[in-house]
Amino acid sequence: MLNFDRSSLSQKLTLISLLSTGSALLLVFAAFTITSIHHQQASQSRQLASLADLAGTNAIAPLLAADREGAQRLLTALAAQEDLTQAVLFDRNGELFARYGEEGSTVPRALGAALMEHVQKAPITQYDGPPWDAVLRIYRPVWVDTHVVGVMMIEAGQRQLLEDIGRSLGVTGAATAAAFFWALFMAVRFRRSIAQPIAQLIAAARQVSGSQTYAQVPHKRNDELGTLIDSFNTMLAQIEQRDLKLAQSREQLERQVSRRTEQLEKAKNAAEAASQAKSAFLANMSHEIRTPMNGVLGMTELLLASPLTEQQRHYTSMVKRSGEHLLVIINDILDFSKVEAGKLTVEYIHFNLGELLDDIDYVFTPQAQAKQLALEFTLAPNIPFAVCGDPNRLRQVIVNLLGNAVKFTEQGKIHVKVLVTAEDAQAVTLRVEVHDTGIGISREAREHIFDSFSQADGSTTRKHGGTGLGLAISKQLVELMGGAIGMEQPLGRGSMFWFSVRFDKRRLDDAAPAEGGAPLRALLVDPNTASRRALEALLAQWGMRCDAVATADECLELLRAAIACGQPYDVALIDMELPVLSGLALAAEIKSDAEIADVRVLLLSAERFAADTRQRREAGVAFQLIKPIRDSDLYDCIMTPLRASEGVRAASAQAPAQPRKSARQKLRVLLAEDNSVNVEVASAMLQGLGLEVLHAENGQQALDVVQSGGIDIVLMDCQMPVMDGMAATAEIRRREQLQGRARQLPIIAITANALQGDRETCLAAGMDDYLSKPFTQQGLADTLGRWVALPRPATVHHADAPSPAPPPPPAAAAINHHALDAIRALSAQGDQLLERVINAFVGDTPAQLRQLRAAVQAGDTQAMRQTAHSLKSSSANVGADSLARLLKDMEQLGKQGTAHGAAVLMGDIDREFLAVQQSFGAMLVKEN
Ligand code: ADP
Repeated sequence: MLNFDRSSLSQKLTLISLLSTGSALLLVFAAFTITSIHHQQASQSRQLASLADLAGTNAIAPLLAADREGAQRLLTALAAQEDLTQAVLFDRNGELFARYGEEGSTVPRALGAALMEHVQKAPITQYDGPPWDAVLRIYRPVWVDTHVVGVMMIEAGQRQLLEDIGRSLGVTGAATAAAFFWALFMAVRFRRSIAQPIAQLIAAARQVSGSQTYAQVPHKRNDELGTLIDSFNTMLAQIEQRDLKLAQSREQLERQVSRRTEQLEKAKNAAEAASQAKSAFLANMSHEIRTPMNGVLGMTELLLASPLTEQQRHYTSMVKRSGEHLLVIINDILDFSKVEAGKLTVEYIHFNLGELLDDIDYVFTPQAQAKQLALEFTLAPNIPFAVCGDPNRLRQVIVNLLGNAVKFTEQGKIHVKVLVTAEDAQAVTLRVEVHDTGIGISREAREHIFDSFSQADGSTTRKHGGTGLGLAISKQLVELMGGAIGMEQPLGRGSMFWFSVRFDKRRLDDAAPAEGGAPLRALLVDPNTASRRALEALLAQWGMRCDAVATADECLELLRAAIACGQPYDVALIDMELPVLSGLALAAEIKSDAEIADVRVLLLSAERFAADTRQRREAGVAFQLIKPIRDSDLYDCIMTPLRASEGVRAASAQAPAQPRKSARQKLRVLLAEDNSVNVEVASAMLQGLGLEVLHAENGQQALDVVQSGGIDIVLMDCQMPVMDGMAATAEIRRREQLQGRARQLPIIAITANALQGDRETCLAAGMDDYLSKPFTQQGLADTLGRWVALPRPATVHHADAPSPAPPPPPAAAAINHHALDAIRALSAQGDQLLERVINAFVGDTPAQLRQLRAAVQAGDTQAMRQTAHSLKSSSANVGADSLARLLKDMEQLGKQGTAHGAAVLMGDIDREFLAVQQSFGAMLVKEN
């Protein structure tokens, strides 16, 4: 069916003209038909009526005379009338009087009577039938004066009439049809003149949008369509102009862009080359700067451990202190360069958070003490110990903030708080706050404090030194670890720096029961049967052998018995709440008994403040775990390699299978290093640790030495001529595999490249651990201690490790050689005797110093006096005169019943003992 809306304009125009013309013609035709029929009928009935009138008038005489024949003749005479079918005359009674009719025509009965009745009322003139009826009847009453004497009826057929009408309608219809087709022809003709220009416009518009050709539409019209086409053409011309301009500017732009891209490309290549050069330079610088620093610091450390005059010792200490300071600055600048080069990355490894915080506390305590500042660590009871992240970067940030706090605080307290701000099954968000009571930071300075090279105040900076990079690096590190850092100014004095970082918690399913070697032995001391059983089950699950007791006495008994039968316990898990002795006291008891002191002690308590860090450290507690204990934390605290601060141990947890060697059968360490200064430094340090040192100048030599056997551990420099450390390690590992050896030779990388990624590269090359140059003897001992059982502890105090603000070095550690000679003279094997005496002094003194420190802190002058007295005489015996003098001062204070100034004196004593220890260490190395 035709859809008007969808049909084309030309179809629409045709349709409209057809509909309007057709309907008009139809109306005219209908009107003509009706009027024509009406007119024909009216004229026929008029004709018949006059005939009836005439016949009626002529019938009066026959009617009155009852002359039927006359009447019959009269009627017959009417037959001449065309179409007449019947003429009937009724008398006054309605009876048929005379009739003429064609064949077949009849007169209905009783018609006459009915007619008579009607004509009385109203003269009927015509039979009341439909127009298309076959016959037309006319009635006329026959009047004589006012009396009706009869009725005349004339009936005529309508055939002729209908024929006439039909004929005239046919002609009219034909004329109408002709008019219609003419209209159609005209519509078709004229629609073109309207639809065609519009179609042209459409085609032109399509061309513009399709192929962007702006051809003008030609026309010769001056009507509205002409105007429309003109406007369209003008519009096209304008668009064409605009397009032209656009194309020109685009071309120009493209030329410009390609020129710029070329320039940018060049700049980018140059920048990339510069960045690569910078990275290479960084790696090189790191190596080049750290290598001589290793010589400087290592040699100074060794020099300090040799017999020196007081002045020489003082000068050397200054050199060491300056060197350490320089190293901090170098590290800062290298870190900063890494930030700038976008090379700063963070590791993701598992570590023990408790140990890390403890270490930091350990390093900073002497620094704080030296400034007479109280240093407090408050750890939330729910902080997990076993976490995954970057321990070194975390340490760096805390050390930085804490170092600043110590640096910028003259009196009062530094308080480190570690809180848990969010925790779920997988991770924990820690917030570390460092509060101090120092100089604080002005409002203006606070805004830029985390920017590079920003220092709050010029004069302050001059007073305190520093590069202004620490906080900027800390911010980068924290952000790299996905955290945030900030500072707040508390109402009172000082400042509060904080940062928060999210760490994944260690999953225990990574922790398989110890494989290979003897299972670890654990001793559980807990009066509560239920918790004892639960712990026993847990330890058994980890493949440990576990015994459990309820009291301190039983514990000591079992520890001693285990030593006696040659199967010592590796770890003792001691509950704080024991019936007689507290857990802490039991730990102290264990550690004070040299026979059983090797066992690692873990303290389990329901209260974080059951024992503070110092008490724990003094009692020899490795870790304190807060109940309810996380399995992963417990596992971690048992498995974490031992720290030097825990004292000497025969075997480390990670090297249980390492055979113990007798004192005479020294451990052999292969030092693969090409730098002669470094060789000297490392050899002296290793010998100081009681190890036998073999030296290889390059990787190839190292390979040969390892091949010839008898090496217990390798220290491998990464960059060496002929064959570098990585290649040598890979080759050693390959040979081990070929020989099907189960245990690998521990290889520790030593490198001056402190760039991130070196560690991974070393581990990937098959090395076991990593030590970055410059290192201290303590650092070396800590690293080696993870892999082999060291015969002798490092003779250097922990606080000597590089730190942002190293403590003042020992002022003097002169050993009175006359005293030593006197000891030698006591025996024929004077040297051996001296060694034993010195070892006993070095071994026993730390515990006594702890006691003295505790007495000073408690203000117990009586204990101060006693301990200082006994230490004074042992120090004097071994020729540590300066130490003896300081202890005498302490004893004096005790005697006077005052602890005023004792803390400062204690710091001096600690440092002096350190120096004495170093001197003895160096002496023994030389003699060995
Ligand atoms: P540096 O300490 O080497 O100068 P930092 O980036 O660590 O560099 O610190 C920048 C500056 O911020 C310091 O110079 C000091 O002015 C200020 N500042 C940092 N920490 C503290 C603090 N705890 N108390 C007062 N001022 C501080």
